[in-house]
Amino acid sequence: MEDDVAHELLEIVRELRAHVEWHGVSGTIGLPRDPGAKARVEAFWREHAAPPAFEEAPPAPSRDAPRRAPLEAVAAPSAAPSPAAPLDRKDSPARPVRAPRVSPAPSPAAVHLPKYGSLDELKEAVRSCTACALHEQRTQTVFARGTGSSRVCFVGEGPGAEEDAQGEPFVGAAGQLLDKMIAAMGLGRDEVYICNIVKCRPPNNRRPEPPEIAACSGYLRAQLQFLDPEVIIALGGTAVSGLLGLTEGITRLRGTFRLYQGRIPVMPTFHPAYLLRNPGAKREVWADLKAVLAHLGRVS
Ligand code: SF4
Repeated sequence: MEDDVAHELLEIVRELRAHVEWHGVSGTIGLPRDPGAKARVEAFWREHAAPPAFEEAPPAPSRDAPRRAPLEAVAAPSAAPSPAAPLDRKDSPARPVRAPRVSPAPSPAAVHLPKYGSLDELKEAVRSCTACALHEQRTQTVFARGTGSSRVCFVGEGPGAEEDAQGEPFVGAAGQLLDKMIAAMGLGRDEVYICNIVKCRPPNNRRPEPPEIAACSGYLRAQLQFLDPEVIIALGGTAVSGLLGLTEGITRLRGTFRLYQGRIPVMPTFHPAYLLRNPGAKREVWADLKAVLAHLGRVS
């Protein structure tokens, strides 16, 4: 009898530890994955400018509420992760496994909501942002495109030259390929929401630096809180790193659902620009998108 109790307690401790570690790697607010990260981000903001202001979240709505809230009505996160680890689908590529369904639970303790009343207000705030050095060479900020009415959100890295010129994400060759991917999923171009980790073009199309990603992260977080997507597709390693804090590389991470802030499934996959250079990788990307469709209940 005592052995049974001890064994049960050991299992509980193991599961609790796995749960906390998962929160850590998924970047959940309130459980910093890196003990020094908070201090570095605060030091960055002291050197630069005030971060986007946030106010405390109102009480979380019930999960029984209508699934699609109007974008202007910001929905607070209302669920916590059910599994303590990502789902690994790689052992059964022919039968996509659904992403973890979150179970109703109280809102996470430290979730904040933007003070902006709408995405348009947030967009205006971004338009005049000078919080990091990327503002110096931009033509204009690149906020997002699409309505997100499908509750499918794509997140890329940052604007390139054409996006910087037109003020819209994914308008170049990579954007055209992304449009084909969206159409292949049976979704309309404007039904999905597409944004980037950073809203200003990095010079010479270099990757955004960690301080730039940190500086812009509040805007992305606010966008995702307004959108409350059912699934996020992270395009490329920088998007995965910016969303989840994982740096193992997109080749290792793609194809497996992770959780953003412990509650929204994220499917990492290759960036369309990579596919233009490596068309052979389209098969893997299509497998990832099919897993997303399975999660959405659009394929069996
Ligand atoms: S990249 Fe983001 S944080 Fe940096 S200036 Fe542009 S909008 Fe502001």
